[in-house]
Amino acid sequence: MKRADIKVGFACNNHCKFCVQWDKRLHYKQRSFEEIKKILENEYKNGCKWVVFTWWEPTLHKDLIASVLYARNLWYNILQIQSNGRNFSNKEYVKELIHAWVTEFWPSIHGFKKETHDILVGSPWAWEQVIQGIKNLRELKQNIIINSVITKQNYTEIPALALLLCKLWVSQFQFAFVHILGSAEKNKKEIVPTKTEIIPYIKKALDIGKKYNVICMTEAIPFCLMQWYEWAIAEYNFMPETTVIDAEYRTESYNDYRWSEGKAKWENCKKCLKNKVCEGPWKEYPELYGWDEFIPINDE
Ligand code: SF4
Repeated sequence: MKRADIKVGFACNNHCKFCVQWDKRLHYKQRSFEEIKKILENEYKNGCKWVVFTWWEPTLHKDLIASVLYARNLWYNILQIQSNGRNFSNKEYVKELIHAWVTEFWPSIHGFKKETHDILVGSPWAWEQVIQGIKNLRELKQNIIINSVITKQNYTEIPALALLLCKLWVSQFQFAFVHILGSAEKNKKEIVPTKTEIIPYIKKALDIGKKYNVICMTEAIPFCLMQWYEWAIAEYNFMPETTVIDAEYRTESYNDYRWSEGKAKWENCKKCLKNKVCEGPWKEYPELYGWDEFIPINDE
């Protein structure tokens, strides 16, 4: 099902060290309700039946509930909120979102330990709020999809985080390798690990998800680092075609964007058995660490 990813505003109550949209909070205001309505109408006509309300923090937008209701009345099938998760700690607000017909909640958590998460998102008490939000969503029997960004600060905690998420009965979790743009670009020496060093921890976390029958996946980690775990590669197995409506542009096909501009491969990828299905890493990664980790696969 085709998805529309709508950035509803550029305000946020976190200050994440890895935020890819960092500077936009200085230059852009929230979209008006009228603007959001037009986008919803256009994208529905364009074939999208799934809408994601996202960045920065959609729950800070005063018209989010009205926007969800409007999308429901247009007959979008899946209505998802991607959030830093803090405002889901307010159970009454979550109930209002559910009544408006949100079908999927996508909070983010970036550490098993409170300190790790709070330092990464630049906000004290954020971890407790996200955990309370997940508990509220579970009590209200919602579909909970978790996103965690992998950084130098948290990768050793990822297996413990996976176990915690399984015990909180989330529906799905995803570990996304930090994309070196925005704040992540500014902080890259401090926060970006090598892919090789994170892999044992990520595979262990995936094993835990599998054991607990929770759908789990990774993003931005190519096949050559994911052998025996190819089932978890989100771009290959799970990602729907998506149109992104950002502040200053609209990207009709995010899949095309990743293949043609966002990600990169090197000369040796031509020798790899996965070359046709692998997108490669985000192009900024090899600019930082080179290509030596990406060894072509020549047997399966
Ligand atoms: S060597 Fe290149 S094509 Fe092969 S899996 Fe790695 S990044 Fe992908």
